[in-house]
Amino acid sequence: MIDVAKIRKDFPILTREVNGKPLIYLDNAATSQTPTQVIDAIVDYYTNYNANIHRGVHTLSQEATDAYEEARAKVQHHFNIAKPHEVILTAGTTHSINIVASGFTSLLKKGDELLVSAMEHHSNIVPWQMLCERTGAILKVIPMNEQGELEMGVYHELLSDATKLVFCNHISNALGTINPIEAMIKAAHEVGAAVLVDGAQAAPHLKADMQKLDVDFYTVSAHKICGPTGVGMLYGKEEWLAKLPPYQGGGEMIAEVTFEKTTYADLPHKFEAGTPNICGGIAFGAALDYINAIGLEHIAAYENELLEYATTKLLTIEGLKIYGTSVNKTSVISFNIEGMHPYDIGSILDKLGVAVRTGHHCAQPIMDFYKIPGTVRASFSFYNTTEEVDVLVASVERARNMLA
Ligand SMILES: *Cc1c(COP(=O)(O)O)cnc(C)c1O
Repeated sequence: MIDVAKIRKDFPILTREVNGKPLIYLDNAATSQTPTQVIDAIVDYYTNYNANIHRGVHTLSQEATDAYEEARAKVQHHFNIAKPHEVILTAGTTHSINIVASGFTSLLKKGDELLVSAMEHHSNIVPWQMLCERTGAILKVIPMNEQGELEMGVYHELLSDATKLVFCNHISNALGTINPIEAMIKAAHEVGAAVLVDGAQAAPHLKADMQKLDVDFYTVSAHKICGPTGVGMLYGKEEWLAKLPPYQGGGEMIAEVTFEKTTYADLPHKFEAGTPNICGGIAFGAALDYINAIGLEHIAAYENELLEYATTKLLTIEGLKIYGTSVNKTSVISFNIEGMHPYDIGSILDKLGVAVRTGHHCAQPIMDFYKIPGTVRASFSFYNTTEEVDVLVASVERARNMLA
């Protein structure tokens, strides 16, 4: 069990007011809030040992390098990754996916097929479309059903010897669906295709084991798991990372540079050109420590209670429809009220101190599927409470009455 009252004390932002009302932060799928423990790690870095890494012999540089590499080790262990150099520290999921999509340019030929799920975030669609434009490869879509679940039968039919890559999110940011990635990875490997799983939305809710999943690439953004923005992970199997060319050229990623020829550094530095987000990486490590001290299994169990409580209560509101009703889902509720625009509902909620996201959630194809302009999305974290859910429900009710 988790002690929510105690946990909330770790998040200074949760005590502030918005429009004269206590803040009720329900936009956790867009970014999570930051606990004091992580803020302290950031302050400590800039107060005590701010220096560039891997370069200087001086003490500060050594301390910063050690802390950064320690953070990499924390990421490695959290995701049960076999080797430290299979952890590439990036600017986040978008950056991670672009590294892989760019790298595959030289590995694909015209007519090769790539499979994308129908419920992807734009950052797991657009880089692959750009890859297809460069290579002549073909993008095919794994469709979803009305509940917001992938059509696995069609997936198996789409897989063939022509399939080179499959990409899918572990959990949908717009619907909350937990996708059956274990089965998807296994089936893709049977036809020799590699798999990239976008784990941005999964990391805050479950512990993904890279070796058990046997996934080829997995991406995470620290800011969705109580860390800072602008830092994240690209996990890649060593064999794939060795095969892919570097994404950016610059400092840190080279072994030797002359004007005739440059040779690249070993992993992970080959993919970490330039001065990285050193402080962010260290704070990412601190965020994982924080989450692990509570325990992701406790977090998931509590968030599931919030999800069930909120779902039941919201469905009592007349005309309210929830999008994404898979039995396997996390604490994300996307909804609309008949005849009302999600933006109008969101604006009224903000006036009442309730922060939700409205719009297409960077997943326009999902909105097209349901033939809607967008949804209101309330996404719950382990620091939210049932009392906050009650305020959400009362506020939605009020918005409905005002807009009716
Ligand atoms: C947030 C999110 C992304 C993008 O992450 P960035 O940190 O903005 O790069 C991609 N996919 C999913 C499923 C997300 O939730």
